[in-house]
Amino acid sequence: MSPRLGACLGLCLAIAAGCGSEEGEAVAGGALAPEAVSPQERIRASTLGVDDARLAAAGSDAANWLTHGRTYAEDRYSPLDLVNAGNVADLRLAWSFPTGLQRGHEATSLVVDGVMYTTGSWSVVFALDATTGKLLWKWDPRVSHEVGRVVCCDVVNRGVALYRGRVYVGVLDGRLAALDAATGELDWEVVTVDQSLPYSITGAPRVVKGRIVIGNGGAELGVRGYVSAYDADTGELAWRTYTVPGNPSEPFESPALEVAAATWTGEEWWKVGGGGTVWDSMSYDPELDLLYVGTGNGSPWSKYIRSPGGGDNLYLSSILALDPDTGELRWHYQTTPGDSWDFTSTQQMILADLRIGGELRRVIMQAPKNGFFYVLDRETGELLSAEPYVEVTWARGVDLETGRPVLSGTAEYDEGIAVVKPTAYGGHNWHSMSYSPLTGLVYIPAQEIFGAYRMDAAYRYKPGEWNTGNDLRHYSILTRELVSGHLLAWDPVAQREVWRHPHGLPWNGGTLATAGNLVFQGTADGRFLALRADDGMLLWQSHHADTGIIAAPVTYRVDGVQYVSVVAGWGGVYALSAGDAAAAAGVESNGKVITYSVQEFSITPEIVEGAMAARDPATVAGNDAYHTYCFKCHGAGAIPGGVLPDVRESASRMGAGFVAVVREGLPGTSMPGFAQWLEDDEIREIAAYLKSRAER
Ligand code: CA
Repeated sequence: MSPRLGACLGLCLAIAAGCGSEEGEAVAGGALAPEAVSPQERIRASTLGVDDARLAAAGSDAANWLTHGRTYAEDRYSPLDLVNAGNVADLRLAWSFPTGLQRGHEATSLVVDGVMYTTGSWSVVFALDATTGKLLWKWDPRVSHEVGRVVCCDVVNRGVALYRGRVYVGVLDGRLAALDAATGELDWEVVTVDQSLPYSITGAPRVVKGRIVIGNGGAELGVRGYVSAYDADTGELAWRTYTVPGNPSEPFESPALEVAAATWTGEEWWKVGGGGTVWDSMSYDPELDLLYVGTGNGSPWSKYIRSPGGGDNLYLSSILALDPDTGELRWHYQTTPGDSWDFTSTQQMILADLRIGGELRRVIMQAPKNGFFYVLDRETGELLSAEPYVEVTWARGVDLETGRPVLSGTAEYDEGIAVVKPTAYGGHNWHSMSYSPLTGLVYIPAQEIFGAYRMDAAYRYKPGEWNTGNDLRHYSILTRELVSGHLLAWDPVAQREVWRHPHGLPWNGGTLATAGNLVFQGTADGRFLALRADDGMLLWQSHHADTGIIAAPVTYRVDGVQYVSVVAGWGGVYALSAGDAAAAAGVESNGKVITYSVQEFSITPEIVEGAMAARDPATVAGNDAYHTYCFKCHGAGAIPGGVLPDVRESASRMGAGFVAVVREGLPGTSMPGFAQWLEDDEIREIAAYLKSRAER
């Protein structure tokens, strides 16, 4: 189905259902059919209901997608099975919405009661009718394009949070904004960073216990990482937790930072910032009341500069379990001690209950950039298992006794060049993975890319500029022959690959798993795929993106129809920086939201008759004559197709002169005379019909 036909059907059906939606109203479509309330009032009532209890129960709310990873567990698994392995081949384009924005589109859309909230590049927020793609409102934070210069990894945004009638978005320039979910009007905004430093926000906020939790990025340029929590109603700062110690001559902000400071040496780190930014992933366990955040690489990358006397450099590249009321650290697990390779642990963290060694364990799972898949006890942080999910050369394995990697010794670059797998692009990056409790598998957008690391011998700190401390020229040797990407189905209990689907190129989209035994994923080369979740068979693919897809799909249900939707728009750090290897992949074009559904062709004769009767009561006599002599040039229902003038307006303007024009024609135009076929009385009836149409 074409997008235009899809939108038309939505409107026709709305008219047939008597919902009163008219052209020009903010909302059309059965999903939002009101009784006696306005569309805005309906949206307000619906979104006010998204509270702590709704968010905690989001897993069983099959129709909606209420929070970034669908649930607090961030599993991106939907219990919907109306679209399933048996009928996914019938998936058709329902609608497509162009954002009008270029650059990378990385958002996971949220959906509540038939309204979709999503973002494009430059932190622009859109509210759409989830059944038609019709724009309800748009909010543009008007980020200065100067900010693009201090952003490491494209001017992207990964989506919004929804809570008690408001939509929350982190803005690229460091603001956190709260919008009225019904109108898109700004309720409040706060600046969460020192805007004189190269901080940026690309991650989606999360909501925990009435507070909006937001991190930031900027470790490539040099900042000190932290995560903050703001009161959802007022925007007042509730707590802020730094992830790395500051100047050791000043008091520590917490005992945890005093512990951390003992693992750093020299003084370069706190001048540059130290890094450890919380730029993407978070999850929350309401039972344990623990908030998990992932931290990034050091500032600078190179530990030989950052901490020349050695040390683990806590809490870089770590999973931190925080008390959500205070931000205090409960436990930490560092995946890459003393990281020098931009091996962030900001990748997604999924909470699940797995049977391991005959015992049901409450675990947290992560596939960070460094190539190992980690399973930890999420109450204590104890490492349960870690195995490589892509080729790994920097470490031989992870010691389960110590919880530390066993270094291979081949990845050090204090002298010369070290060739390392994975690389700063990651064996897996921010592109979300998903976990299906049905198959017991985690679906990882995996990639095989090597990196060559060399210290920048002439490095000195340049405030506000690139400060990795590395010579990055080697990236120019990457070509498409040297890189690859695939969808990886991983058994987290056995810690082994079950199947893979090769995509050729890396930097593919996030994944969605459903109860229909399906996994959905978009690709760098602009395809959108559905695979059978248990064995990886490709069941369906589409080509509507016209640009690379890097974001993760969502699914939802409105009026008994299941939709699958993904945001498309090639970009992100790989697209910008990987040179030839990226040029071979996606193409840049306008970002768009693409939405599919399995729908029978559901227009019946009764619906057509109902729609006609609603539009033109049979009592208007000129209707027949108009649709005999006039409509083929002036449009069915007297609605012009954009070629000839609007005769509804002409008839009203001409008054009595209309009869002569129709009878004799208009000399000098293509309007012929109809004296041969129409009596004056009939022409007057047509005029009456046109006036009635104009009034409607
Ligand atoms: Ca980084």
